[in-house]
Amino acid sequence: MNAAGGGPAPGPVKRMALGWLLFGKGARHLTAEMLYEEATLAKVPVSLATVYNTLNQLTDAGLLRQVSVDGTKTYFDTNVSAHHHFYLETTTNWSTFGPASGVAEDA
Ligand SMILES: [Zn+2]
Repeated sequence: MNAAGGGPAPGPVKRMALGWLLFGKGARHLTAEMLYEEATLAKVPVSLATVYNTLNQLTDAGLLRQVSVDGTKTYFDTNVSAHHHFYLETTTNWSTFGPASGVAEDA
């Protein structure tokens, strides 16, 4: 007796697309704004609020880890296994990053 039908709601589909963007590139750290930008470039029609909600849900589910930098910036870490963070403020870079990973290089 399932009268619902109509296919999947757009919300979960968007969240899935965000998941692909997030986890499809290996371990990395990114802010909600960075993911939002990637989603926009990938033509995933999401709002920044949806990005935030999704990131928070994934964090609650244990799939992401939140890393605060400076108490002002929150990065989301796709690597939830134990590893060191060494954030270099002067270069705006993560020690666990390769240079090609979409982090803004301008300090
Ligand atoms: Zn990390």
